[in-house]
Amino acid sequence: MSTTGILYVVATPIGNLADMVPRAVEALQTVALIAAEDTRHSSRLLAHFDIKTPTVAYHDHSDDQRTEQILQRLLNGESVALISDAGTPLVSDPGYRLVRHARQRGIQVVPVPGACAMIAALSAAGLPSDRFAFEGFLPAKQTARCNVLQSLVNETRTLIFYEAPHRILETLQDVAQIFGAEREVVLARELTKTFETIRGGAVGEMADWVASDTNQQRGEIVLLIHGAIAPAAKDMGTESERVMRVLLEELPIKQAASLGAKLTGLKKNFLYQWALENSKKE
Ligand code: SAM
Repeated sequence: MSTTGILYVVATPIGNLADMVPRAVEALQTVALIAAEDTRHSSRLLAHFDIKTPTVAYHDHSDDQRTEQILQRLLNGESVALISDAGTPLVSDPGYRLVRHARQRGIQVVPVPGACAMIAALSAAGLPSDRFAFEGFLPAKQTARCNVLQSLVNETRTLIFYEAPHRILETLQDVAQIFGAEREVVLARELTKTFETIRGGAVGEMADWVASDTNQQRGEIVLLIHGAIAPAAKDMGTESERVMRVLLEELPIKQAASLGAKLTGLKKNFLYQWALENSKKE
């Protein structure tokens, strides 16, 4: 049996303290040490849940000595919990280096899952969620931002970004420019908080809305972009659509896509995606 401690990677709420899961409270109360992105920021959360465990600051630019101190305590048999300011550590937040070093030293790493803004946003956005790409924060400078956006223009998966409120308007305008004003986007703002707002539409219209309502340029924001429609989709044609609709009346999606591919000459994957998006709506 291992005598080393456990490194718990603990998610905390993204705004609403009621989203703290009981297992997170228990882990934070029972470990010997909490490694927090910002100890002052986390003190409110810890006080709310009556957690008196000592804290130490940890971020990915912490010097090697700090990382080493935490690892030594784990190796000496003490358990440590890693938290960030909000949500899931390592998701656009510190923790990667500590978790990687811990695993390399044979220390058990245990996740305590909970809130994560991008997953919460995806779960309520109504965009395809079977395949998605989380891109974190876009670059702050416009040229670099546009280069990244340009590189994603043909990506068919739903794209998810974190964005700062003072940049959201510029970013939407860049997305409209690069992806076309018709591309569907969803803005998920202030999730789990009083002014939670989730709204979607063509990016050109969304940019106009955000420009005209400065409240939309405040708070915390997740931006989701509908993936590019695969080129074949444009070639679906009314006859192929009719064939698929008939097949879907009788068959499960997978079989309908497979048979549809033989009948129409279109790709099975494309028909499967089309069926997923179209079969249950009517
Ligand atoms: N680790 C966090 C998570 O699991 O979501 C993300 C940390 S990252 C430094 C902070 C960014 O996440 C914010 O700028 C915003 O884009 C997004 N975010 C965090 N909380 C949010 C919320 N309540 N509503 C919308 N977006 C949020």
